[in-house]
Amino acid sequence: MSLIVHKYGGTSMGSTERISNVAKRVAKWARAGHQMVVVPSAMSGETNRLLALAKELAPSKLTDAYNRELDMLAATGEQASSALLAIALQAQGLESVSYAGWQVPIRTNSAYTKARIESIDDKKVRADLEAGRVVIVTGFQGLDESGNITTLGRGGSDTSAVAVAAAMKADECLIYTDVDGVYTTDPRVVPDARRLHTVSFEEMLEMASMGSKVLQIRSVEFAGKYKVKLRVLSSFTPWDIAINEEAKSGTLITFEEDENMEQAIVSGIAFTRDETKISVLGVPDKPGIAYQILGAVADANIEVDMIIQNISKDGKTDFSFTVNHGDYARAMDLLKTVVVPKLGAQEVVGDTKICKVSIVGIGMRSHVGVASTMFRVLAEEGINIQMISTSEIKTSVVIDEKYMELAVKALHKAFGLDQAPA
Ligand code: ADP
Ligand code: ASP
Ligand code: MG
Repeated sequence: MSLIVHKYGGTSMGSTERISNVAKRVAKWARAGHQMVVVPSAMSGETNRLLALAKELAPSKLTDAYNRELDMLAATGEQASSALLAIALQAQGLESVSYAGWQVPIRTNSAYTKARIESIDDKKVRADLEAGRVVIVTGFQGLDESGNITTLGRGGSDTSAVAVAAAMKADECLIYTDVDGVYTTDPRVVPDARRLHTVSFEEMLEMASMGSKVLQIRSVEFAGKYKVKLRVLSSFTPWDIAINEEAKSGTLITFEEDENMEQAIVSGIAFTRDETKISVLGVPDKPGIAYQILGAVADANIEVDMIIQNISKDGKTDFSFTVNHGDYARAMDLLKTVVVPKLGAQEVVGDTKICKVSIVGIGMRSHVGVASTMFRVLAEEGINIQMISTSEIKTSVVIDEKYMELAVKALHKAFGLDQAPA
Protein backbone atom coordinates (compact mmCIF):
# COMPACT_ATOMS: atom_id res chain seq x y z
CA MET A 1 0.00 0.00 0.00
CA SER A 2 1.31 3.44 -0.89
CA LEU A 3 0.66 6.79 0.64
CA ILE A 4 -0.18 9.25 -2.12
CA VAL A 5 -0.80 12.98 -1.97
CA HIS A 6 -2.97 14.55 -4.66
CA LYS A 7 -3.23 18.32 -5.13
CA TYR A 8 -6.03 19.85 -7.19
CA GLY A 9 -5.80 23.48 -8.35
CA GLY A 10 -8.56 26.06 -8.60
CA THR A 11 -9.75 25.23 -12.11
CA SER A 12 -9.84 21.53 -11.24
CA MET A 13 -12.08 22.41 -8.25
CA GLY A 14 -13.98 25.08 -10.20
CA SER A 15 -17.56 23.79 -9.93
CA THR A 16 -19.53 21.13 -8.08
CA GLU A 17 -19.36 19.02 -11.21
CA ARG A 18 -15.56 19.22 -11.27
CA ILE A 19 -15.34 18.56 -7.54
CA SER A 20 -17.46 15.49 -8.09
CA ASN A 21 -15.03 14.37 -10.81
CA VAL A 22 -12.08 14.93 -8.46
CA ALA A 23 -13.88 12.81 -5.87
CA LYS A 24 -14.36 10.00 -8.40
CA ARG A 25 -10.67 10.12 -9.33
CA VAL A 26 -9.57 10.08 -5.70
CA ALA A 27 -12.02 7.29 -4.92
CA LYS A 28 -10.49 5.24 -7.75
CA TRP A 29 -7.04 5.57 -6.13
CA ALA A 30 -8.38 4.84 -2.64
CA ARG A 31 -10.25 1.74 -3.87
CA ALA A 32 -7.04 0.51 -5.47
CA GLY A 33 -5.66 0.33 -1.93
CA HIS A 34 -3.73 3.58 -1.59
CA GLN A 35 -3.84 5.79 1.46
CA MET A 36 -4.91 9.18 0.13
CA VAL A 37 -4.30 12.70 1.35
CA VAL A 38 -5.82 15.36 -0.91
CA VAL A 39 -4.88 19.05 -0.88
CA PRO A 40 -7.31 21.29 -2.79
CA SER A 41 -7.07 24.94 -3.78
CA ALA A 42 -10.02 27.28 -3.49
CA MET A 43 -12.51 27.12 -6.37
CA SER A 44 -11.13 29.17 -9.28
CA GLY A 45 -11.65 32.90 -8.91
CA GLU A 46 -12.53 32.63 -5.23
CA THR A 47 -9.24 33.90 -3.78
CA ASN A 48 -9.31 36.85 -6.19
CA ARG A 49 -12.92 37.56 -5.32
CA LEU A 50 -12.23 37.60 -1.60
CA LEU A 51 -9.12 39.76 -1.88
CA ALA A 52 -10.96 42.22 -4.14
CA LEU A 53 -13.62 42.67 -1.44
CA ALA A 54 -10.92 43.67 1.03
CA LYS A 55 -9.44 46.12 -1.48
CA GLU A 56 -12.85 47.74 -1.93
CA LEU A 57 -12.91 48.54 1.74
CA ALA A 58 -9.28 49.57 2.19
CA PRO A 59 -7.26 49.80 -1.01
CA SER A 60 -3.71 50.28 0.18
CA LYS A 61 -3.38 49.36 3.81
CA LEU A 62 -0.08 47.56 4.13
CA THR A 63 0.03 46.97 7.85
CA ASP A 64 0.43 43.64 9.59
CA ALA A 65 -3.02 44.06 11.09
CA TYR A 66 -4.51 44.37 7.60
CA ASN A 67 -2.52 41.47 6.19
CA ARG A 68 -3.62 39.31 9.10
CA GLU A 69 -7.23 39.86 8.08
CA LEU A 70 -6.42 39.18 4.42
CA ASP A 71 -5.19 35.76 5.50
CA MET A 72 -8.27 35.15 7.68
CA LEU A 73 -10.34 36.01 4.64
CA ALA A 74 -8.45 34.20 1.89
CA ALA A 75 -8.12 31.00 3.93
CA THR A 76 -11.90 30.55 3.79
CA GLY A 77 -11.68 29.74 0.08
CA GLU A 78 -9.74 26.54 0.69
CA GLN A 79 -11.85 25.69 3.71
CA ALA A 80 -14.98 25.71 1.55
CA SER A 81 -13.50 23.66 -1.31
CA SER A 82 -12.05 21.11 1.14
CA ALA A 83 -15.37 20.56 2.87
CA LEU A 84 -17.10 20.23 -0.50
CA LEU A 85 -14.58 17.64 -1.61
CA ALA A 86 -15.03 15.64 1.61
CA ILE A 87 -18.79 15.71 1.02
CA ALA A 88 -18.32 14.61 -2.60
CA LEU A 89 -16.12 11.72 -1.44
CA GLN A 90 -18.73 10.68 1.11
CA ALA A 91 -21.23 10.71 -1.74
CA GLN A 92 -18.94 8.21 -3.48
CA GLY A 93 -19.32 5.94 -0.46
CA LEU A 94 -15.92 6.65 1.06
CA GLU A 95 -15.19 7.85 4.54
CA SER A 96 -13.60 11.25 4.32
CA VAL A 97 -12.72 14.10 6.63
CA SER A 98 -11.36 17.59 5.90
CA TYR A 99 -9.06 19.70 8.05
CA ALA A 100 -8.19 23.37 7.83
CA GLY A 101 -4.47 24.13 8.13
CA TRP A 102 -4.86 25.17 11.78
CA GLN A 103 -6.54 21.90 12.66
CA VAL A 104 -3.70 19.69 11.42
CA PRO A 105 -1.81 21.88 12.40
CA ILE A 106 0.49 23.13 9.67
CA ARG A 107 2.75 25.54 11.53
CA THR A 108 4.19 28.57 9.76
CA ASN A 109 6.02 31.75 10.63
CA SER A 110 4.00 34.96 10.98
CA ALA A 111 4.74 36.57 7.62
CA TYR A 112 1.10 37.15 6.68
CA THR A 113 0.28 36.64 2.99
CA LYS A 114 3.66 34.97 2.37
CA ALA A 115 4.18 32.71 5.37
CA ARG A 116 6.63 29.81 5.30
CA ILE A 117 5.81 26.35 6.59
CA GLU A 118 7.93 25.39 9.60
CA SER A 119 6.47 22.05 10.65
CA ILE A 120 3.53 19.75 10.12
CA ASP A 121 2.05 17.55 12.81
CA ASP A 122 0.85 14.45 10.98
CA LYS A 123 -0.64 12.52 13.92
CA LYS A 124 -4.28 13.30 13.24
CA VAL A 125 -3.95 12.69 9.50
CA ARG A 126 -2.18 9.39 10.07
CA ALA A 127 -4.81 8.20 12.52
CA ASP A 128 -7.54 8.93 9.97
CA LEU A 129 -5.63 7.14 7.21
CA GLU A 130 -5.17 4.12 9.47
CA ALA A 131 -8.91 4.19 10.10
CA GLY A 132 -9.48 3.98 6.35
CA ARG A 133 -10.48 7.59 5.70
CA VAL A 134 -9.49 9.81 2.82
CA VAL A 135 -8.06 12.94 4.41
CA ILE A 136 -8.47 16.38 2.87
CA VAL A 137 -6.06 19.07 4.04
CA THR A 138 -6.70 22.66 2.94
CA GLY A 139 -4.03 24.10 0.69
CA PHE A 140 -2.45 27.54 1.03
CA GLN A 141 -2.70 28.03 4.79
CA GLY A 142 -1.29 27.43 8.24
CA LEU A 143 -1.13 28.63 11.81
CA ASP A 144 1.51 30.84 13.39
CA GLU A 145 2.80 30.43 16.93
CA SER A 146 0.35 32.99 18.30
CA GLY A 147 -2.60 31.10 16.85
CA ASN A 148 -3.20 33.34 13.82
CA ILE A 149 -4.21 31.91 10.46
CA THR A 150 -1.59 32.56 7.79
CA THR A 151 -1.43 31.99 4.03
CA LEU A 152 1.54 30.93 1.96
CA GLY A 153 1.48 33.35 -0.99
CA ARG A 154 -0.43 33.02 -4.25
CA GLY A 155 -0.24 29.54 -5.69
CA GLY A 156 0.65 28.26 -2.21
CA SER A 157 -1.45 25.10 -2.32
CA ASP A 158 1.33 23.45 -4.33
CA THR A 159 3.62 24.07 -1.37
CA SER A 160 1.08 22.74 1.12
CA ALA A 161 0.81 19.52 -0.88
CA VAL A 162 4.53 18.94 -1.24
CA ALA A 163 5.14 19.84 2.42
CA VAL A 164 2.46 17.37 3.52
CA ALA A 165 4.00 14.73 1.23
CA ALA A 166 7.44 15.44 2.72
CA ALA A 167 6.23 15.38 6.32
CA MET A 168 4.35 12.12 5.80
CA LYS A 169 7.06 10.54 3.64
CA ALA A 170 4.48 9.94 0.94
CA ASP A 171 5.43 7.70 -1.95
CA GLU A 172 4.43 10.34 -4.47
CA CYS A 173 2.89 13.80 -4.74
CA LEU A 174 0.72 14.35 -7.81
CA ILE A 175 -0.09 17.94 -8.72
CA TYR A 176 -3.28 17.89 -10.82
CA THR A 177 -3.86 21.05 -12.80
CA ASP A 178 -5.49 22.44 -15.94
CA VAL A 179 -2.56 21.59 -18.23
CA ASP A 180 -1.21 18.09 -18.75
CA GLY A 181 2.28 18.82 -17.44
CA VAL A 182 5.17 21.25 -17.49
CA TYR A 183 5.67 22.76 -20.94
CA THR A 184 8.63 24.42 -22.62
CA THR A 185 6.78 27.66 -21.87
CA ASP A 186 3.27 28.68 -20.91
CA PRO A 187 1.08 26.96 -23.54
CA ARG A 188 -1.49 29.73 -23.18
CA VAL A 189 1.02 32.18 -24.65
CA VAL A 190 2.84 29.92 -27.10
CA PRO A 191 0.51 27.36 -28.66
CA ASP A 192 3.56 25.50 -30.06
CA ALA A 193 4.93 24.84 -26.57
CA ARG A 194 5.71 21.16 -25.95
CA ARG A 195 5.14 19.12 -22.85
CA LEU A 196 8.30 17.88 -21.17
CA HIS A 197 8.20 14.23 -20.04
CA THR A 198 10.74 15.02 -17.38
CA VAL A 199 12.30 18.19 -16.11
CA SER A 200 15.22 18.35 -13.74
CA PHE A 201 14.63 19.68 -10.29
CA GLU A 202 17.13 22.50 -10.85
CA GLU A 203 15.45 23.61 -14.06
CA MET A 204 12.03 23.48 -12.45
CA LEU A 205 13.34 25.58 -9.59
CA GLU A 206 14.62 28.25 -11.98
CA MET A 207 11.47 28.17 -14.10
CA ALA A 208 9.26 28.55 -11.04
CA SER A 209 11.37 31.33 -9.60
CA MET A 210 11.43 33.14 -12.95
CA GLY A 211 7.63 33.18 -13.11
CA SER A 212 6.24 29.90 -14.49
CA LYS A 213 3.29 29.65 -12.20
CA VAL A 214 2.62 25.98 -12.92
CA LEU A 215 4.36 25.23 -9.59
CA GLN A 216 4.93 27.66 -6.74
CA ILE A 217 8.67 27.96 -6.17
CA ARG A 218 8.54 26.89 -2.54
CA SER A 219 6.88 23.62 -3.50
CA VAL A 220 9.87 22.86 -5.72
CA GLU A 221 12.25 23.81 -2.91
CA PHE A 222 10.47 21.39 -0.56
CA ALA A 223 10.55 18.65 -3.17
CA GLY A 224 14.30 19.14 -3.54
CA LYS A 225 15.05 19.29 0.15
CA TYR A 226 13.02 16.20 1.06
CA LYS A 227 13.36 14.35 -2.24
CA VAL A 228 9.61 14.18 -2.79
CA LYS A 229 8.64 12.35 -5.94
CA LEU A 230 6.70 15.04 -7.75
CA ARG A 231 4.61 14.87 -10.93
CA VAL A 232 2.47 17.52 -12.65
CA LEU A 233 -0.50 16.16 -14.59
CA SER A 234 -3.96 16.98 -15.88
CA SER A 235 -7.17 16.76 -13.87
CA PHE A 236 -9.06 16.88 -17.15
CA THR A 237 -8.37 13.34 -18.35
CA PRO A 238 -11.37 11.01 -17.87
CA TRP A 239 -11.45 10.19 -14.14
CA ASP A 240 -11.65 6.46 -14.82
CA ILE A 241 -8.45 6.03 -16.87
CA ALA A 242 -6.28 3.19 -15.59
CA ILE A 243 -4.16 4.17 -12.59
CA ASN A 244 -0.95 2.82 -14.14
CA GLU A 245 -1.55 4.98 -17.22
CA GLU A 246 -2.39 8.03 -15.14
CA ALA A 247 0.67 7.52 -12.93
CA LYS A 248 2.94 7.76 -16.00
CA SER A 249 1.30 10.81 -17.53
CA GLY A 250 2.29 14.45 -17.24
CA THR A 251 5.76 15.62 -16.25
CA LEU A 252 8.02 14.05 -13.64
CA ILE A 253 10.44 16.29 -11.76
CA THR A 254 13.70 14.33 -11.71
CA PHE A 255 16.64 14.64 -9.37
CA GLU A 256 19.21 12.95 -11.52
CA GLU A 257 20.37 13.78 -14.99
CA ASP A 258 19.77 10.38 -16.52
CA GLU A 259 20.22 9.44 -20.16
CA ASN A 260 16.55 9.51 -20.85
CA MET A 261 16.36 13.18 -20.16
CA GLU A 262 15.69 15.44 -23.04
CA GLN A 263 19.04 16.94 -23.88
CA ALA A 264 18.10 20.42 -24.99
CA ILE A 265 20.45 23.28 -24.18
CA VAL A 266 17.53 25.47 -23.26
CA SER A 267 14.66 23.51 -21.72
CA GLY A 268 12.18 26.24 -21.07
CA ILE A 269 11.27 29.90 -21.16
CA ALA A 270 9.71 31.63 -18.20
CA PHE A 271 8.30 35.13 -18.01
CA THR A 272 6.59 37.37 -15.55
CA ARG A 273 4.89 40.74 -15.40
CA ASP A 274 5.06 40.73 -11.62
CA GLU A 275 8.14 42.92 -11.41
CA THR A 276 8.67 46.66 -11.53
CA LYS A 277 11.81 48.71 -11.99
CA ILE A 278 12.98 51.48 -9.72
CA SER A 279 15.89 53.79 -10.59
CA VAL A 280 17.63 56.13 -8.22
CA LEU A 281 19.22 58.79 -10.40
CA GLY A 282 22.19 61.02 -9.73
CA VAL A 283 23.53 59.25 -6.66
CA PRO A 284 26.98 60.42 -5.47
CA ASP A 285 29.28 57.58 -6.52
CA LYS A 286 31.08 56.62 -3.36
CA PRO A 287 31.56 53.45 -1.28
CA GLY A 288 28.51 52.22 0.59
CA ILE A 289 25.88 53.49 -1.87
CA ALA A 290 24.51 50.08 -2.78
CA TYR A 291 24.33 49.19 0.88
CA GLN A 292 22.52 52.38 1.82
CA ILE A 293 19.91 51.96 -0.87
CA LEU A 294 19.40 48.21 -0.79
CA GLY A 295 19.98 47.90 2.96
CA ALA A 296 17.05 50.22 3.63
CA VAL A 297 14.90 48.30 1.15
CA ALA A 298 15.84 44.96 2.72
CA ASP A 299 15.13 46.29 6.23
CA ALA A 300 11.60 47.02 5.02
CA ASN A 301 11.32 43.31 4.09
CA ILE A 302 11.17 44.08 0.37
CA GLU A 303 12.87 41.56 -1.88
CA VAL A 304 15.05 42.91 -4.64
CA ASP A 305 15.74 40.89 -7.75
CA MET A 306 17.86 42.35 -10.54
CA ILE A 307 20.29 45.17 -9.82
CA ILE A 308 22.42 47.38 -12.05
CA GLN A 309 24.64 50.33 -11.37
CA ASN A 310 25.67 52.53 -14.26
CA ILE A 311 29.16 53.87 -14.76
CA SER A 312 29.74 57.09 -13.02
CA LYS A 313 29.77 60.50 -14.67
CA ASP A 314 30.88 63.65 -12.87
CA GLY A 315 31.02 61.71 -9.60
CA LYS A 316 27.40 60.62 -9.89
CA THR A 317 25.80 57.37 -10.93
CA ASP A 318 22.37 55.81 -11.52
CA PHE A 319 21.26 52.74 -9.65
CA SER A 320 18.36 50.51 -10.77
CA PHE A 321 16.75 47.40 -9.35
CA THR A 322 13.52 45.44 -9.63
CA VAL A 323 10.96 44.66 -6.94
CA ASN A 324 7.66 42.82 -6.98
CA HIS A 325 4.54 44.76 -8.00
CA GLY A 326 3.09 44.30 -4.52
CA ASP A 327 6.09 46.05 -2.95
CA TYR A 328 6.40 48.84 -5.54
CA ALA A 329 4.41 51.59 -3.78
CA ARG A 330 6.13 50.93 -0.46
CA ALA A 331 9.60 50.85 -2.03
CA MET A 332 9.00 54.10 -3.95
CA ASP A 333 7.72 55.78 -0.83
CA LEU A 334 10.67 54.61 1.25
CA LEU A 335 13.18 55.81 -1.32
CA LYS A 336 11.54 59.17 -1.89
CA THR A 337 11.01 60.04 1.75
CA VAL A 338 13.96 58.43 3.50
CA VAL A 339 16.76 57.18 1.30
CA VAL A 340 17.06 59.79 -1.44
CA PRO A 341 17.11 62.85 0.85
CA LYS A 342 19.77 61.16 2.99
CA LEU A 343 21.96 60.26 0.01
CA GLY A 344 21.57 63.50 -1.85
CA ALA A 345 20.40 61.68 -4.98
CA GLN A 346 18.58 63.63 -7.70
CA GLU A 347 15.39 61.66 -8.13
CA VAL A 348 13.65 58.30 -8.05
CA VAL A 349 11.80 57.06 -11.10
CA GLY A 350 9.67 53.97 -11.32
CA ASP A 351 8.51 51.84 -14.24
CA THR A 352 5.70 49.35 -13.75
CA LYS A 353 5.43 48.46 -17.42
CA ILE A 354 8.27 46.00 -17.61
CA CYS A 355 8.49 42.23 -17.77
CA LYS A 356 11.21 39.69 -17.22
CA VAL A 357 11.87 36.92 -19.72
CA SER A 358 14.23 34.06 -18.84
CA ILE A 359 15.71 31.12 -20.69
CA VAL A 360 16.46 28.10 -18.50
CA GLY A 361 18.43 24.93 -19.16
CA ILE A 362 21.12 22.80 -17.53
CA GLY A 363 22.70 22.54 -20.97
CA MET A 364 23.77 26.17 -20.54
CA ARG A 365 26.45 24.97 -18.14
CA SER A 366 28.37 23.26 -20.88
CA HIS A 367 27.54 25.44 -23.88
CA VAL A 368 28.84 28.90 -24.55
CA GLY A 369 27.03 31.52 -26.59
CA VAL A 370 23.53 30.73 -25.36
CA ALA A 371 23.02 34.14 -23.76
CA SER A 372 24.38 35.88 -26.85
CA THR A 373 21.90 33.98 -29.02
CA MET A 374 19.17 35.31 -26.76
CA PHE A 375 20.41 38.88 -27.14
CA ARG A 376 20.68 38.49 -30.93
CA VAL A 377 17.12 37.17 -31.22
CA LEU A 378 15.78 40.09 -29.19
CA ALA A 379 17.82 42.57 -31.22
CA GLU A 380 16.45 41.11 -34.46
CA GLU A 381 12.95 41.73 -33.14
CA GLY A 382 13.90 45.32 -32.27
CA ILE A 383 13.46 44.71 -28.55
CA ASN A 384 15.59 46.81 -26.23
CA ILE A 385 17.11 45.06 -23.21
CA GLN A 386 16.99 47.15 -20.04
CA MET A 387 18.64 44.76 -17.57
CA ILE A 388 20.36 41.38 -17.71
CA SER A 389 21.11 38.80 -15.06
CA THR A 390 22.56 35.33 -15.38
CA SER A 391 23.14 32.25 -13.30
CA GLU A 392 24.72 28.95 -14.23
CA ILE A 393 21.56 27.64 -15.87
CA LYS A 394 19.54 30.73 -16.79
CA THR A 395 19.71 34.14 -18.40
CA SER A 396 17.06 36.75 -17.69
CA VAL A 397 16.35 40.08 -19.32
CA VAL A 398 14.06 42.93 -18.38
CA ILE A 399 12.23 44.44 -21.37
CA ASP A 400 9.21 46.63 -22.03
CA GLU A 401 6.13 44.57 -21.19
CA LYS A 402 4.50 45.27 -24.54
CA TYR A 403 7.12 43.02 -26.18
CA MET A 404 6.69 40.10 -23.82
CA GLU A 405 4.76 37.77 -26.08
CA LEU A 406 6.86 38.62 -29.09
CA ALA A 407 10.06 37.93 -27.15
CA VAL A 408 8.85 34.63 -25.72
CA LYS A 409 7.62 33.37 -29.10
CA ALA A 410 10.81 34.39 -30.89
CA LEU A 411 13.05 32.78 -28.27
CA HIS A 412 10.94 29.63 -28.17
CA LYS A 413 11.43 29.19 -31.89
CA ALA A 414 15.08 30.25 -31.96
CA PHE A 415 16.03 27.63 -29.37
CA GLY A 416 14.07 24.95 -31.23
CA LEU A 417 11.68 24.33 -28.37
CA ASP A 418 8.81 23.80 -30.76
CA GLN A 419 10.63 20.77 -32.24
CA ALA A 420 10.65 17.36 -30.57
CA PRO A 421 14.21 16.53 -29.41
CA ALA A 422 16.22 14.24 -31.69
P1 ADP B 1 -3.68 25.51 -10.54
O1 ADP B 1 -4.90 26.32 -10.26
O2 ADP B 1 -3.95 24.10 -10.94
O3 ADP B 1 -2.66 25.62 -9.45
P2 ADP B 1 -2.18 27.45 -12.08
O4 ADP B 1 -3.00 28.40 -12.87
O5 ADP B 1 -1.61 27.93 -10.80
O6 ADP B 1 -3.07 26.14 -11.86
O7 ADP B 1 -0.99 26.84 -12.96
C1 ADP B 1 -1.27 26.23 -14.19
C2 ADP B 1 -1.05 27.23 -15.31
O8 ADP B 1 0.33 27.55 -15.38
C3 ADP B 1 -1.36 26.73 -16.69
O9 ADP B 1 -2.72 26.87 -17.00
C4 ADP B 1 -0.46 27.56 -17.58
O10 ADP B 1 -1.15 28.62 -18.19
C5 ADP B 1 0.55 28.15 -16.62
N1 ADP B 1 1.95 27.89 -17.01
C6 ADP B 1 2.95 28.82 -17.00
N2 ADP B 1 4.09 28.30 -17.43
C7 ADP B 1 3.85 26.99 -17.70
C8 ADP B 1 4.66 25.93 -18.17
N3 ADP B 1 5.96 26.09 -18.44
N4 ADP B 1 4.07 24.72 -18.33
C9 ADP B 1 2.77 24.54 -18.05
N5 ADP B 1 1.96 25.51 -17.60
C10 ADP B 1 2.48 26.75 -17.43
N1 ASP C 1 -6.15 29.76 -3.77
C1 ASP C 1 -4.79 30.28 -3.67
C2 ASP C 1 -4.49 31.20 -4.83
O1 ASP C 1 -5.36 31.46 -5.64
C3 ASP C 1 -3.76 29.18 -3.56
C4 ASP C 1 -3.63 28.27 -4.76
O2 ASP C 1 -4.50 28.27 -5.63
O3 ASP C 1 -2.63 27.54 -4.82
O4 ASP C 1 -3.42 31.73 -4.91
MG1 MG D 1 -1.26 27.10 -8.95
